[in-house]
Amino acid sequence: MTINTPDPSTAIDWDNLGFKWLDTNGYVKYIHKDGKWDNGEFVRDAYIKMHVCAPALNYGQECFEGIKAFRCKDGNVRIFRPDANAKRMQYSADLACMAPVPEDLFVEACERAVANNLEFVPPYGSGGALYLRPLLLGTGAEIGLYPAPEFTFIVMVIPVGNFYKSGVKPVDCLVVDSFDRAAPLGTGAAKLGGNYAPVLKHSSAAKEQGFAITLHLDSKTHSNIDEFSTSNFVALTYPSPEHGNKPVFCAPESPSILNSVTKQSLVQLAKSFGWYVENKIVPFSDVENNRFEEIAACGTAAVITPVKSIQRQGVTTPIGTPETRDAIGAGFLRLFTAMRGIQNGDLEDPYGWMQPAQGIAPRHEA
Ligand code: PLP
Repeated sequence: MTINTPDPSTAIDWDNLGFKWLDTNGYVKYIHKDGKWDNGEFVRDAYIKMHVCAPALNYGQECFEGIKAFRCKDGNVRIFRPDANAKRMQYSADLACMAPVPEDLFVEACERAVANNLEFVPPYGSGGALYLRPLLLGTGAEIGLYPAPEFTFIVMVIPVGNFYKSGVKPVDCLVVDSFDRAAPLGTGAAKLGGNYAPVLKHSSAAKEQGFAITLHLDSKTHSNIDEFSTSNFVALTYPSPEHGNKPVFCAPESPSILNSVTKQSLVQLAKSFGWYVENKIVPFSDVENNRFEEIAACGTAAVITPVKSIQRQGVTTPIGTPETRDAIGAGFLRLFTAMRGIQNGDLEDPYGWMQPAQGIAPRHEA
């Protein structure tokens, strides 16, 4: 494997990549100390050394993000909306009492991580991407319950495969009623590590029963839709005269859900199609009463995962029509195609979502 090449590595089987760790050239690391961020460095390692008293380790003072970079049709590598993730990380940092990462530093770190790992960006047309994982950690020695004296900001990368190698397959979903993911005035809208570990037991048990994804309702009343454990809930209604028979893109509103960058993008695309966008509290009874023609989970990993059934307390509600239970429905297919087209550079990027390649040159910093 040649190190100073921006071309995809020939040592990787691009057609058989999953979503798992694979050694790369390294990660980018910045330290915040005495009120300011340093200039950062490129670390040629897959490990990080920190004090055993670090609040990140002891009190979960940590947050993260998930972003993808794509090798586009014109050969350039571009990052999808890192500025949106930068804003969300600032929100998470504020909730967890951490030093915010300025947006320009966040974007620079993403570019730097990609520039030093260009050969790990999958080839155009493979359906894969370079997954970027920004991490903000409370580091330094502080065993008392106080904010860390030092913060570490990292951007690591992993090449990931085509989520839909064998086509977009609708999945079965289970509502988690025995556990609340996010308290009403809690941290559900932030991407804190502590929001995820307690869900693992429930999502793993659901997977063992054949449910690929789990859905959470609002913690206070257990009657309104919040979101899936790792993605936002989105739905398309049947045409109705109320909205001039236009498709309605429905994205439930809740103070306890993550503001998905994918959802924000799908909303913009749906509006560009002339669809009506509905952003309000959505009762779970809308699912039970079959208000939706299509339901999907949306997020960076897969863009759209269609849902073919939702089970709650032993009662299963099939979603949509028999056709949408075997394959992605026409509405979400249109959104998925538009989104992936922009990400791959097959379609124009009218919103300036793809962080241009300027600044991304193979660097391999020492
Ligand atoms: N909701 C949760 C709880 C998530 O973990 C994710 C994934 O990051 C999302 C929603 C989707 O967010 P995004 O589209 O920014 O990846």
